[in-house]
Amino acid sequence: MSIVIPVYNEETSLPLLLPRLVPVLEGMGRPWEVVFVDDGSRDRSLALLKLAAHDFPGRVKAVELLRNAGQHMAIMAAFGETDGEYVVTLDADLQNPPEEIPRLVAKMDEGYDVVGTVRAKRRDSLFRKAASRLVNRTTALMTGMRLGDYGCMLRGYHRDVVEAMTASDEVSTFIPALAQIYARRPVEIDVAHEERAEGDSKYSVHELVRLNFDLMTGFSVVPLQLFGLLGFLTALAGFSFGVFLLVRRLVVGSELEGVFTLFALAFLVMGVIMAGVGMVGEYVGRIYQQVRGRPRFLVRRVHAGGGDA
Ligand code: UDP
Ligand code: MG
Repeated sequence: MSIVIPVYNEETSLPLLLPRLVPVLEGMGRPWEVVFVDDGSRDRSLALLKLAAHDFPGRVKAVELLRNAGQHMAIMAAFGETDGEYVVTLDADLQNPPEEIPRLVAKMDEGYDVVGTVRAKRRDSLFRKAASRLVNRTTALMTGMRLGDYGCMLRGYHRDVVEAMTASDEVSTFIPALAQIYARRPVEIDVAHEERAEGDSKYSVHELVRLNFDLMTGFSVVPLQLFGLLGFLTALAGFSFGVFLLVRRLVVGSELEGVFTLFALAFLVMGVIMAGVGMVGEYVGRIYQQVRGRPRFLVRRVHAGGGDA
């Protein structure tokens, strides 16, 4: 069993994490390893992780990324270093209680290959919760994937699913959604959610928007299709309006106010075109990124066992 934990400037949470996690893992009576990824932290996180790797040789590993790659890419990097039959992801900030891991693993023992979690009583700000609900709904609608809670990262994946995920070298991805594609038997369970114990959320509003855009455009072409439909409807409306104006001109005679109606119409059409260009741009941007084929993350070193801490 491998536990994967992405870490970005979590020096205040880390000292609380292992003392809670290790007893849970020991209590389960099966082999375990914890793979931390230092996602380019600028505080003492890496030093603390190296110490942990030193203290638990063969148990705790710390993957050091060259620079910040984002939570999902950090998890991807860690996947490559795991060797457990089950891989469980967890946040470093203790918002996902480690005590829930045995329940998750029990589900995996029942034969489910992806175990998702839904935060039963979510302890986050009201704004954050509302934003998440909106994202969960729209994503479910657009991608056709039924996931109760995309944001909750306490999740279990079978080795096969992990292999499939690491083999898909998309540049921007969203791990819970990606896993859903490869899952044979997914299931969701309710888990407790706690307030962040220490430090602040590592996501700014801008990054959240970015991440959710990744989720939508990365997993469906519905935005593109919707736009096509919208464009068609607008064109149809414009044409009908033109016919109406022509008939009116023949019957009633020309009118000056019509100029303004046309203005409004022109702006409407321009707006739609601009939105369309933006949407197409988003996809083109992705193709560009993918074609460049840059590495998605760069592992500098893997710290394991005694000696190098
Ligand atoms: N994280 C990361 N890289 C980033 C941002 C976050 O590895 O660029 C980690 C962070 O250390 C934490 C987890 O991802 O372990 C979730 O981050 P956070 O708690 O800030 O997100 P929130 O709970 O606000 O969604
Ligand atoms: Mg958090």
